[in-house]
Amino acid sequence: MSATLLEGGPIAAQIMSDVTAAVAALPEDQKPKLVAVMAGDNPGARAYARMQSKAAGKVGIAYELIELPEDVTQEDMASKIVELNADASATGIIQLMPVPAQINARAIQAIIDPLKDVDGVTPAALGEVVRGNMNAAPCTAQSVMELVKASGVNLRGLECVMVGHSEIVGKPVGLLLLDQFATVSVCHIGTSEAGMLEAHTTSADLLIVAVGVKGLVKGSMIKPGAVVIDVGMNRVKNAEGKTKMVGDVVFEEAVEVASQITPVPGGVGPLTTAILVRNTMNALKLQRG
Ligand code: NAD
Repeated sequence: MSATLLEGGPIAAQIMSDVTAAVAALPEDQKPKLVAVMAGDNPGARAYARMQSKAAGKVGIAYELIELPEDVTQEDMASKIVELNADASATGIIQLMPVPAQINARAIQAIIDPLKDVDGVTPAALGEVVRGNMNAAPCTAQSVMELVKASGVNLRGLECVMVGHSEIVGKPVGLLLLDQFATVSVCHIGTSEAGMLEAHTTSADLLIVAVGVKGLVKGSMIKPGAVVIDVGMNRVKNAEGKTKMVGDVVFEEAVEVASQITPVPGGVGPLTTAILVRNTMNALKLQRG
């Protein structure tokens, strides 16, 4: 069997087009503005900022990057967030990751105004996710759920396995699947340490992997006919020494076993920034009642 590709690009294009139309319909002085706060000069955070700025520009959303020094204190970063919470022109706030070691990211996330939290990182947003509100979930978790929807699987009673239990992917996706009456197992490092990962993955009709370990899931660990969503993004060098991105699943093996599979790159990745701008538009609607 050779699996069908589940690509994020076409879904992202539709989302971008919907948001562009919604932003265009707003009066000039009432358009949203997304403000990203970056502490220090991390290349990963800067790359995210570039992608966000590009996506926002495409749909007509203003984007501002606030750069705080590498040695910024927790208090100063918190004050900046409090200031943005009170600034009516900043309609969406996102804290870029990673942050320098002296910053407690969770504590910063917790003070973002929930109405401006476009990346679903506040405790309030996570509470909404427990109640099944997909729009409140972190962007990557929403991307996964969009791909699940595009796969056409009926989640009710479906055996789903989520490998990875982070706050931005595994935990929210597990909860959102549960909300649709799927039978969900969430696996993590403890599952692997107990030697039980394969026992779980081979029982999955829907397998989602968000770990950050290249080649963790081999073809033999996948149930024939399963739908596979690979969130992992791992940089590797090819034979010519060029950097390329691979997932957590061994794609060449998995594509022979699965019925549908996301490519890496081209699956979850393209969707995440499209969802960020959609969230920015939704946040504006919530703020204006
Ligand atoms: P994380 O580091 O916060 O969490 C990793 C998870 O994997 C944890 O639950 C951990 O217990 C589990 N894990 C680690 N080793 C394991 C093993 N050997 N067996 C089973 N489980 C194991 O990661 P994250 O932030 O959720 O990101 C996961 C991956 O997804 C990374 O590769 C990241 O780059 C990628 N990612 C992609 C996007 C995107 O837009 N495409 C967005 C966010 C994250």
